[in-house]
Amino acid sequence: MSDDCIFCAIADGEIPARTVHETDDAVAFLDANPLAPGHTLVIPKTHAERVGDLDADLASAVFDVVSEITPAVEAAVDADGANVGINDGEAAGQEVPHVHVHVVPRFDGDGGAPIHAVAGERPDLADEELDAIATDVSAAIDG
Ligand code: 5GP
Ligand code: ZN
Repeated sequence: MSDDCIFCAIADGEIPARTVHETDDAVAFLDANPLAPGHTLVIPKTHAERVGDLDADLASAVFDVVSEITPAVEAAVDADGANVGINDGEAAGQEVPHVHVHVVPRFDGDGGAPIHAVAGERPDLADEELDAIATDVSAAIDG
């Protein structure tokens, strides 16, 4: 539990939420300001701010719930699909600093966009630049 964290308070039952599913380590509840009917958030019960702060067990526990609830949410609201994503960090739009996975139901012709629409203008990267980025990412994992 992190002091003043609203999602820790939800995980601890200190503030109410429309919980749809719960395991020992993760909980899923309806977003209070939904982008679509059925918009659900999945959080680890222990505080972690960023995706990279999740250890393997907690990451697995969260994604287990994501994979279980996504088809259930789609069925419950008769959706045709869903976008599943995380705003990781303020630059990406994260407002609540407790990692959470958004499951946003989508409907044919709803006027929304794919996840490709979240970033700014597409960069025009040469093959050599893509090669260098791949090398740098691998090095950052290993290093
Ligand atoms: P973020 O921008 O951090 O990725 O998304 C935070 C999400 O949490 C928003 O979609 C917002 O509507 C939702 N949210 C913020 N406070 C509460 C709350 O107290 N209860 C619930 N159920 N959702 C919340
Ligand atoms: Zn928290």
